[in-house]
Amino acid sequence: MLSRLPHGNICAILIKVECLSRLNLRRNRLNNGRGILVLYNVAQLLKAPVGTSLEYDIHEEDVQLDEDLKVIGPIEGHVRLHHTNQGILTDGQVELTLELTCMRCLKEFEHPMHLDFSEVFYPTVDVTSGVPVPPMEEEVAFPIDERHQLDLTEAIRQNILVSLPMVSICQEDCAGLCPQCGKDLNSGPCACEPEADTRFSVLEQLLRNGSES
Ligand SMILES: [Zn+2]
Ligand SMILES: [Zn+2]
Repeated sequence: MLSRLPHGNICAILIKVECLSRLNLRRNRLNNGRGILVLYNVAQLLKAPVGTSLEYDIHEEDVQLDEDLKVIGPIEGHVRLHHTNQGILTDGQVELTLELTCMRCLKEFEHPMHLDFSEVFYPTVDVTSGVPVPPMEEEVAFPIDERHQLDLTEAIRQNILVSLPMVSICQEDCAGLCPQCGKDLNSGPCACEPEADTRFSVLEQLLRNGSES
C-alpha cells in the first residue's frame, strides 16, 4: 500500500489514513444510502511530499452509479493515489458487470467491463490552513471536498459512460422481435407473413404501368 516513502514513520500515518477512509466510507453509506464507490481521506497524503503515493485495492458491493447504470455484483480493482503539484492523480483499473438492455430483443443481459482510468483531483480547501482554494482551470479534473475526501464514484461513472458500446445487443446474431406480433425471434419463428417490401412494389407498379401503355 505504499511506495516512495522517505522513512518508516509515515507508514503508520498512512495506515491510519486508510482506517480513516474506511470509517468515512461507512459513515457516508449510512448517511445517504447510496453506494459510494470509493472514498478516501487524502488529508495526510496532501501533507506528505509531492511524489508520495498510496495504493488501495478496490472491492465494493452494491454500488449504484446512477439510475441508468445498473451494476451487477461487486466492483473490483486497484487504484494508486499520487500527490502531485496539482493535487492528487488517481490511476487504476476496475472490473465490473453492467446490466444492459438489448436494443433488438429488449431483454436484459450482462455486460462485463474492464476500465483503466487516470484522473486528476484538486483540493478545494488548503489542507493546512483550511482556506478555500480557487477552482482549477483544467476542465477534466474532479474536486476533493472540503473535508479532504476524494470520491472516485463520479470519475468511474464517467469512464463507464464513454466506454459503453454504441449499440448494446445481447449477442452478435440476436434476431430481435417480430415487428408485427412482437415475438422474440431468438426462440423461433412466428406465424406472421413477411412484410412486403414497399420499394419493390412501387417498382413493380411502374413496370406494370409501363407494359400496359
Ligand atoms: Zn437481443
Ligand atoms: Zn410475428
